[in-house]
Amino acid sequence: AKYVYDFTEGNRNLKDLLGGKGANLAEMTNLGLPVPPGFTITADACRHYLAEGSLPDGLEQEVAGHLAALESTMGRKLGQADDPLLVSVRSGAKFSMPGMMETVLNIGLNDESVHGLAKQAGGNDRFAWDSYRRLIQMFGKTVLDIDGDLFEGALDRLKGRRQDTDLDAGELQQLVETYKGIVREQTGADFPADPREQMRLAVMAVFDSWNAPRAILYRRQERIPADLGTAVNIMAMVFGNYGDDSGTGVAFTRDPGSGQQGIYGDYLQNAQGEDVVAGIRNTIPLQDLERIDPSSYRELLAIMETLENHYRDLCDIEFTIERGKLWMLQTRVGKRTAAAAFRIATQLVDQGLITMDEAVTRVTGDQLAQLMFPRFDGGAEKKKIAKGMNASPGAAVGKAVFSSERAVELAEQGEDVILVRRETNPDDLAGMIAARGILTSRGGKTSHAAVVARGMGKTCVCGAEELEVLPAERRFVAPGGVEVSEGEVISIDGRTGEVFLGEVPVVPSAVVEYFEGAAEPADDLVKAVDRIMRHADGVRRLGVRANADTPDDAARARRFGAQGIGLCRTEHMFLGERRQLVEDLVLATTDEERQAALDALEPLQKSDFIGIFQAMDGVPVTIRLIDPPLHEFLPDLVELSIKAATQEATGKDRRLLSAVKRLHEQNPMLGLRGVRLGLVIPGLFAMQVKAIAQAAAEVPGARPEIMIPLVAAVQELESVREEAVKILAEAGVEALIGTMIEVPRAALTAGQIAEAAEFFSFGTNDLTQMAWGFSRDDVESSFFHRYLDLGIFGVSPFESIDREGVGRLIEIAVAEGRAARPDLHLGICGEHGGDPDSVHFCHDVGLDYVSCSPFRIPVARLEAGRAAL
Ligand code: ADP
Ligand code: MG
Ligand code: MG
Repeated sequence: AKYVYDFTEGNRNLKDLLGGKGANLAEMTNLGLPVPPGFTITADACRHYLAEGSLPDGLEQEVAGHLAALESTMGRKLGQADDPLLVSVRSGAKFSMPGMMETVLNIGLNDESVHGLAKQAGGNDRFAWDSYRRLIQMFGKTVLDIDGDLFEGALDRLKGRRQDTDLDAGELQQLVETYKGIVREQTGADFPADPREQMRLAVMAVFDSWNAPRAILYRRQERIPADLGTAVNIMAMVFGNYGDDSGTGVAFTRDPGSGQQGIYGDYLQNAQGEDVVAGIRNTIPLQDLERIDPSSYRELLAIMETLENHYRDLCDIEFTIERGKLWMLQTRVGKRTAAAAFRIATQLVDQGLITMDEAVTRVTGDQLAQLMFPRFDGGAEKKKIAKGMNASPGAAVGKAVFSSERAVELAEQGEDVILVRRETNPDDLAGMIAARGILTSRGGKTSHAAVVARGMGKTCVCGAEELEVLPAERRFVAPGGVEVSEGEVISIDGRTGEVFLGEVPVVPSAVVEYFEGAAEPADDLVKAVDRIMRHADGVRRLGVRANADTPDDAARARRFGAQGIGLCRTEHMFLGERRQLVEDLVLATTDEERQAALDALEPLQKSDFIGIFQAMDGVPVTIRLIDPPLHEFLPDLVELSIKAATQEATGKDRRLLSAVKRLHEQNPMLGLRGVRLGLVIPGLFAMQVKAIAQAAAEVPGARPEIMIPLVAAVQELESVREEAVKILAEAGVEALIGTMIEVPRAALTAGQIAEAAEFFSFGTNDLTQMAWGFSRDDVESSFFHRYLDLGIFGVSPFESIDREGVGRLIEIAVAEGRAARPDLHLGICGEHGGDPDSVHFCHDVGLDYVSCSPFRIPVARLEAGRAAL
């Protein structure tokens, strides 16, 4: 096997093998851009190492060969005492995981080669010692597992109130000695001086960082598979820390927050890469580089344009300037906010770079869902206390907390919190996930907080420099002496960067108003959404229906683009005042009593259905007959027992108690419910079918579909069907009669069931519950996190269809159902109907429609379009 690729050998399509960073470094190299030479060790090698605990055979020889080639290109040898080559060892997985894994710079320095480096730099001792101390610090932390604060603390003590750039060569040399002491003390051994040994250890540390706790947490959050492993890039160092004619920066080819075209980035003079994102010193806006180094600036802008045209998308980049020479160190298609994604996709269409089909694939249902979040009410009274950068949109309200741990703690108690930090680092990830929003006082739009929050779709305001954040005292101070301590409520606006004291009321998003039909597409975001949604609707094959039980929901679903109702539940129609009638039905001892209760319920049901048919105005409405166990409609057993034992208890109370006892079940979800109820309580389903038929007769254009729940055998369906057909014929109403497929046996006998069903609707909540044997009301809170940790599944099967198991049942049912009845109509009505991955699955297996809650309908429409492309 080949485990090592020179940058000239790879390309951007090899992300599985070379990781995103390596693949794109190769792409840039082959585009002729100025990339320091280097090579990539594949993710295969990492997977082998993680599985076997040792490097694969032949790897070390292969690396040695590539290193020799690099050395000859550079005309220097790694760590050579009088004229050293230095390299960086950089992690880079298939999916970018900002700051989650490790990178070590300046590999190759030791007590001898540091002098060689100074000589190379024309006697710049300061630069050489600065590079050396950085190596020990980074290597110590990431490879030797030493607490980074020990190094930070030593640096802080040495510099006092000065900047790190104010330290002179002598002080940095002294710092190197201190650092070496820390290494000795913490590990019992000297800092490894052998350059090749340094490199080997760093490679293994990068491999190991794949399984660092924060990387695992990040992958779970972002649904990145746990077994990909990371590639490792080894590249010749270039130095931004030579002096003021050097520096390092990050940039975007357009604004990742809004999508606006322009120049967006941060630059830091006399610094190495890590410094920019770590917020060590305050960066300057990229525009200022024009003044400092006009020729590098012009070259950079030209390269950014080349990259945009080549990738046909927003790119982000890392670059370094070494004494006036520009070097590209990284690029990738950049993360962006949801709003920017829609704007950029349509801008690129207008620029002629991509087609509308591609534009639809450039946005996701999750991004659309984010745009449907509410925002702050512009008219509300607000007390603004600061303004930072609008790093990630949304409107977040919560109690201020000052540490990741506290954020997690309070969130677990059900509190909404805003995590307030000076700047965040990868260790804050758990707190960022737990928080409603993130507020930092330092760092720009490319800071860790901003990048990670955008990735998570979480509201973030960063770089609110007027705030003095005092984490140890759990408070911050805003201008004018306003103080906010832990637990006080603040509101942050990720769209404007504003920070408010107290709770600010929120209003619906403009995108929702547009879907509601309340607003014409006015601003450019809504226009972009409109264009993309129209195109998605034009290309999709899947229909989209709504799960809606009330006329209000049905009407909203229509406005959001639902083409029908895929699931109208009838059980809530038996609650409230009608509970009494249900009690009467259950308590009935004679046919007359039972009929009286049913007769009383029928007109109420009829009027429910009339409302729904009217709201749906001529599109199909699938009505599911009553499904849950009957005792859910009856009083609580314990309360009733107490009452029945008292003096005032009536005969009726006692009869009710015995009925409740009779109906009590150990496993109600597997008990008397669904079609079983219809077969056991005479007249119940007939009453519902009659109400549907009569309502349909009264509403012109009504298109009812009658759905029987929980069928496991065709015989169950046949007897209900027979009765229903008769009632419909009497009323002169036409309606499809079909069933839910939600019991594994139904899926496995779908060929038989299709003989008696004109449609199937996959009830994937119950189907998942029964296929896995998971009680869906219990497992998610009791042990799913353990299952996620163990990698038994990457995401809960209740959230996203388990293709291998539940999906297999669906495939069988689709194939055998259609074989028996070619015009069988097929849909899905579980929660999965609004989940992007599941929508793609439904498209792939050839369903006719998905049905989901009204708010998810635009998401399902978009994803159905993307699935078709
Ligand atoms: P991350 O994935 O966390 O961004 P990187 O591998 O990109 O980590 O490296 C961290 C920083 O070091 C970046 O700013 C990068 O540009 C810089 N860097 C990496 N390799 C080199 C190099 N060979 N010369 C100069 N700077 C480098
Ligand atoms: Mg990077
Ligand atoms: Mg069900």
